[in-house]
Amino acid sequence: MISVFDLTRAAFAARLSEWGEPPFRTEQIWNWLYVRLADSPAAMKNLPKPLREKLAAEFSFNSLTPIVDLRSNDGGTHKILFRLPDGRQIESVLMRYDKRRTACISTQAGCAMGCVFCATGQMGFDRHLTAGEIVEQVLWFERALAPHPSPKRRGAGGEGLTNVVLMGMGEPFHNYEATMEAIGRLSDPQGFNFGERRFTVSTVGLVPMIERFAAEHRQINLAVSLHAATDDLRTELLPVNKRYPLSVLMLACHKYVETTRRRLSFEWALIQNVNDTPKQAHALAKLIAPLRPLTHVNVIPLNPTQDYAGATSTRERAAAFKLSLEEAGIPCTIRVRRGIDIAAGCGQLRNRPALESPRLS
Ligand code: SAH
Ligand code: SF4
Repeated sequence: MISVFDLTRAAFAARLSEWGEPPFRTEQIWNWLYVRLADSPAAMKNLPKPLREKLAAEFSFNSLTPIVDLRSNDGGTHKILFRLPDGRQIESVLMRYDKRRTACISTQAGCAMGCVFCATGQMGFDRHLTAGEIVEQVLWFERALAPHPSPKRRGAGGEGLTNVVLMGMGEPFHNYEATMEAIGRLSDPQGFNFGERRFTVSTVGLVPMIERFAAEHRQINLAVSLHAATDDLRTELLPVNKRYPLSVLMLACHKYVETTRRRLSFEWALIQNVNDTPKQAHALAKLIAPLRPLTHVNVIPLNPTQDYAGATSTRERAAAFKLSLEEAGIPCTIRVRRGIDIAAGCGQLRNRPALESPRLS
């Protein structure tokens, strides 16, 4: 059965008109779905009963079944393992810190890119998520945070999500259309109204899609996972580097910044004695210095995963790496590790909850 969240507003309006419904019904139902966050037609009190029944018979309203619900000991991270209608599983994470409430959303079940230090890469690729499955993850957290939102309350002053990052399981640019369709649906001012600037897409570096994204001139933030500044090391860590080596990737990054004049962030999972060396720091600074002042490096201390033996850099080495970039005029942030006790950190998401005792919500 098709999910109602897989439909654009126009496609949904067309279905309702085929059923002989007046145009205002589209607006009413869209408001229930994306403003009042209804998760079933039964909640749509101002619709006639036969229409509610027809909606329930024709569309599914809930593709995500939470099967494990874990909260970190510090309370700041909340991870959900969802079952999809075909039995596949994905994980999504909510992080609360400072005044931000950020949802980290999956775009695929598994991932085909095979980055050696990533648990999702280690499990391989199952399938792309549909736009509706991406949308529903965001709505799920919004419902959990703010059960009765109004569009005005969403954002800084309210209780709902403040940011969405497409940094969960999967490579968003390998599932480009569904990812962009989901963001389009969620940012629609007549619906969920979550502005593009509050989304960040992270890519392993699929060059043709970076070019496409640049040409679309969107307001969505872009991050590129670099992790190594020489081809030999990057190919060892990220097999995709064979296909799109650094020279090609950096050219696309330059073009992106030139055409959009938007900031481009680089992600760097810091691994002791592997990519935290002065040689890598200098090579990185040289590679991205031409993008100043529109660039920034996000260092993620490596999170442990089952099949990768590398270790997180010590604080001292991380500080030295950061200093070396800052001396070259490149801002660098070392991310605080969060949610490691529930394997909800970057790169730790996978389809089976290893050694966890399920706690159902
Ligand atoms: N596929 C996309 C987005 C999902 S991964 C990408 O690769 O960019 C989100 C971020 O987590 C990426 O920067 C990724 O390289 C990083 N990551 C993966 N495994 C990690 C690990 N074990 N520790 C720290 N960061 C990791
Ligand atoms: Fe896929 Fe990103 Fe993990 Fe690489 S780091 S395997 S691209 S999810």
